[in-house]
Amino acid sequence: MNMVHIGCFTSRICFNSRNWQRPTGEAAKLEKKSHCVKFGFGYEEWLFRHEWESEGWRCGFTQGVNASSSRLERIGTSFDLRLFTIQPDSRRRFVATIKAAEFLSDKQAKTAVDVFKKKGWFDSMLTEIQQAGGDSRVLRESEPSNILNIRFRVENVEFCKSDDFVPRNNSIYDYNRYKLHKSDFVDQFSFVTNEQRDVREVVGVAYERSAVVRKSVLDRADGKCEHCGAKGFETPDGVFLETHHIIFLSEKGPDTIHNVIALCPNHHREAHHGFRREQLKREFLSFVSKASERKVKDRI
Ligand SMILES: [Zn+2]
Ligand SMILES: [Zn+2]
Repeated sequence: MNMVHIGCFTSRICFNSRNWQRPTGEAAKLEKKSHCVKFGFGYEEWLFRHEWESEGWRCGFTQGVNASSSRLERIGTSFDLRLFTIQPDSRRRFVATIKAAEFLSDKQAKTAVDVFKKKGWFDSMLTEIQQAGGDSRVLRESEPSNILNIRFRVENVEFCKSDDFVPRNNSIYDYNRYKLHKSDFVDQFSFVTNEQRDVREVVGVAYERSAVVRKSVLDRADGKCEHCGAKGFETPDGVFLETHHIIFLSEKGPDTIHNVIALCPNHHREAHHGFRREQLKREFLSFVSKASERKVKDRI
């Protein structure tokens, strides 16, 4: 069956110093009020136990998927899952990307748990929970979809280097809960922290830019430079392009979608510094006026 790929999600995974092969009891000590704290382990802690593969599929669990209310609507789709963890020193580290993962239906989860029981993996889980000091009774009582909720091909797991720390200004630092964060489009301002924004306001060198305008323009561009059509590069938070005010804010250009264009970094620099900058400005203005006309037509 051909799966519809619905893009990339970013989610937290509990901390585990043994590469998510088995529970270590660490997460329970690091967290507050989570499943790990309550029961001494998390079902995610076996996620990369690759030998537990059956008929080409590795079934596993991530809390982000569990917390996703639209999981059931998304059955029949595939997605990339970028996982990060919060280290004991509170730094965020990228763990792995699972390409083309799939959501398990409740029925598939039940079948998968039955396979785990038949192969003795379920018993291993019970033993390992106890060894980590956890409460193994909860495993026996859990719904199958609370034990296994995704499946993927082992060869589709790309591990990150152990020092692949998330840059401090990345919005991942605002993602503390176990949740699926949809990644789509970002620009040069997406990586500025609130702290930096405050400083800039005080210094008064930056102009206030509407986040709604930036988002509308990035959506309009759909990941491609609106001048040359080149696809922006991928980041953990989405496809990157730069938003540019055609008539600069410093020249009293309006902060609206009719004066903002999404560009690849190369064309953005050229628009500021190139010999062709006046010509580009005219082309951009004509592009955005046509783009808004198109939008009006689409709506009619
Ligand atoms: Zn370009
Ligand atoms: Zn610019």
